[in-house]
Amino acid sequence: MILITGAAGYIGSHTALNFLNAGYDIVVFDNLETGHIETVEALQKIGCVKFEKGDLRNIEDIDAVFSKYKIDAVIHFAAFALVGESVENPSKYYRNNVVGTLNLLDTMIKHDIKKIVFSSTCATYGEPKYTPIDEKHPQNPINPYGMSKLMVEKIMDDFDRAYGLKSIRLRYFNVAGCDELSRIGEWHEIETHLIPNILKSTFGQGQTFKIFGDDYDTPDGTCIRDYVNIEDLAQAHRLAFEYLQKENKSDVFNLGTEKGSSVKQVFAECEKVLGEKIDVEITQRRPGDPAILYADAAKAKDILGWTPQKSLEKSIKTAYEYEKILQKK
Ligand code: UDP
Repeated sequence: MILITGAAGYIGSHTALNFLNAGYDIVVFDNLETGHIETVEALQKIGCVKFEKGDLRNIEDIDAVFSKYKIDAVIHFAAFALVGESVENPSKYYRNNVVGTLNLLDTMIKHDIKKIVFSSTCATYGEPKYTPIDEKHPQNPINPYGMSKLMVEKIMDDFDRAYGLKSIRLRYFNVAGCDELSRIGEWHEIETHLIPNILKSTFGQGQTFKIFGDDYDTPDGTCIRDYVNIEDLAQAHRLAFEYLQKENKSDVFNLGTEKGSSVKQVFAECEKVLGEKIDVEITQRRPGDPAILYADAAKAKDILGWTPQKSLEKSIKTAYEYEKILQKK
């Protein structure tokens, strides 16, 4: 069985869905602090999914799971992921993302499980020195969230040297879209991301969508990001897992489309998909946003055979379908 931590959340649940479709049995471990039980229940309708509620900060919780099930490998998502919150409350981020992961890794070693795919981020690179960003780009995170993920990457290197723990660390760029059948989706109580925020603003709750700054040094003045579709991203996790099973080697890969889209371009694409004008206002820059981030993902293509297939339009369409469901919850 595959243990997926954080599979009640956005990226974890879509990855779980991909593994279920490929015939794997999974155990979901989640504290449901930001994830949702309804998401786990949706996965349970699709395949063999055991659910264990627990928190990585309590080592007994995770130890019990490894004692109960025969786990072959771990896909690890469980983490806090709000950059702004990480700046205000770094302790929360280091305790959960770093200490929690250390508990997980220690327990894996104790139970002789030595394969893990880890959800890392392009936030480990910090302010870009050049674009597109490849895996050799220096890692100098500019917030505790990115630093917590980098610390875990370093811990994994040391655990490989000392205990033979093999890890694939996947550094995502921006992730967008939802399951095409809307069974699961992007469901955050606090939504900070661009596409869901644009879509939410169309449901008439008086919140005009805000573009955070149009005075960046980019062609239209708004920030450029690389939006990879969630189903493509989920597929990359399975390819990484299968590579790990076959090669038993640690490695790190960027996951992005290698194509940048500006905030204004994404906004225009949303208007096109919805077929309507959306109210917008330009406000000041959000602290900590670099002007341009997009991936060099050649390594994932060469080694994992991963090529993202789905368009930004597809991501927006599926996100919109799911947003309609969320609005009724
Ligand atoms: N953004 C925006 N308005 C919003 C949310 C995001 O203008 O309501 C911009 C943000 O400043 C950034 C881009 O959209 O330039 C992507 O932001 P997001 O939070 O989705 O992802 P991040 O790049 O921070 O991981």
